[in-house]
This record gives sequence, structure tokens and C-alpha cells, in this order.
Amino acid sequence: MNTILRISIQKSGRLSEDSLRLFKECGIELSGGGTGRLKAQATNFPAEFLFLRDDDIAGYVADGVADLGVVGQNVLEESNKSVSIAKLLGFGKCRLSIAVPRSDEYRSIQDLEGKSIATSYPRITAAYLANKGVRADIHEISGSVEIAPSIGLASAVCDIVSSGSTLLANGLKEAEPIFYSEAVLVASPKLSEEKQTLLNQLIFRIEAVQAAKN
Ligand code: ATP
Ligand code: ZN
Repeated sequence: MNTILRISIQKSGRLSEDSLRLFKECGIELSGGGTGRLKAQATNFPAEFLFLRDDDIAGYVADGVADLGVVGQNVLEESNKSVSIAKLLGFGKCRLSIAVPRSDEYRSIQDLEGKSIATSYPRITAAYLANKGVRADIHEISGSVEIAPSIGLASAVCDIVSSGSTLLANGLKEAEPIFYSEAVLVASPKLSEEKQTLLNQLIFRIEAVQAAKN
């Protein structure tokens, strides 16, 4: 049987374009095209691509439905799936930060003792607070986290900060970054020897691409 690598990448979002570019720069061409596709074959490398929501990628790779995936470390860490990180990819950089109302005086994370924090990243937030010995109430919400303080749902938030303009628009200020993230290539923990060989070839190409850029 011919071994091929199944590689899952984000279908549409902040990582999509850079993920496709990465494989293209590695010399891997995809057949077909068009938006809305869920799958594509590589024409000159034994691989096929699955286009998924980023939240599903780590799970598919952990379960072995996909062999490899490209996902942000923030999503990976939060998912707690057991996959191995094969390569840091250097794009999709962002940070997860605690933010508080602009009028609050913020000195340190200890100020959040006994407070409530709204976030889509409850695991990462809880781990950070526990490490600092701070007990706070974590409210998991899936979107529009920044609105939580103004509607009285929480006294702080923990969310991805990019420009800071979303925070500003919601009367918040960045208080403390807690997690730095970039896109990573993840691999299933149970790759066959043949697939591992293909992965090694891929990593070799990625390293060549990265070296050419530095
Ligand atoms: P999906 O529909 O696939 O679930 P999404 O809306 O959850 O997409 P995106 O906003 O496309 O996700 O972000 C994907 C990833 O891009 C993030 O998890 C993060 O790792 C990374 N990223 C890089 N810069 C930013 C940014 N400024 N804001 C948010 N995410 C960013
Ligand atoms: Zn998502």
C-alpha cells in the first residue's frame, strides 16, 4: 500500500494562507482548487490535505484521523490533546493576555484574587493563576469576551490581544501577557515508520525554507 500523509490545516482563518504558503514553499503542489473544498491531494508529494476548523485539528491528529496538523499553540495547549510538536512555524504569532477596565489600577496578578475572569481559554488561564497562587473565578465564554466587564459578567478578561484596539473599544487595557503563541506543525503520536520517514522529509524541507528566510 502506498503511504500518504494526511495533513490538516485551517479551512479559513488567520492561519489558512500562511499554512498553504508553507507547503507551497516546500515545493508541494495541491490539485484542484476553489473555495469551500474540504480535501485536496498533493500532486508531487505523498500527502493529502484536510481543511478544518482550527479547534478540531489537534483532536484529529491525536486520534490519528490526520497524521499532521498546523495549529496555534494557544489552541493546542487549551485542547490538552496528546500530539507531538514537530516544528515551530514562525507565523500566526499572538499573545494571550489578562485585560482589565482602563480605570482600574493594576499592579500585579495578585489584584485578581477573588475576582472573576471571562475567557475562551479556561485551561491556560487557570494554570497561570494556579502557578501564581491566585484564586479567581473563571467564566468560560466562547466569543466576544471583551464585552464581559462592561456588562458586569466579569471584572477581567483573558483573551488574544493583537492591536489593542478591541480592548480600547471596550474600555479595557492590557494588564499582563500570560501565553505567547505561534503556529506549530503537530504530529500524531502513533505514526508508522513509513509516515515518520515522510514527516522527516517534510521537516527537512521546512527547515530549508526557514533557513533561506533568515
Ligand atoms: P475557526 O473558524 O477555524 O475556528 P477561529 O476564528 O477560531 O477560526 P482565527 O481567528 O482564524 O480562529 O485564528 C486562528 C489562530 O490564529 C489563533 O488561534 C491564533 O493561534 C492565531 N492568531 C494569530 N494572530 C492572531 C490575532 N491577532 N488574533 C487572533 N488569533 C491570532
Ligand atoms: Zn477556532
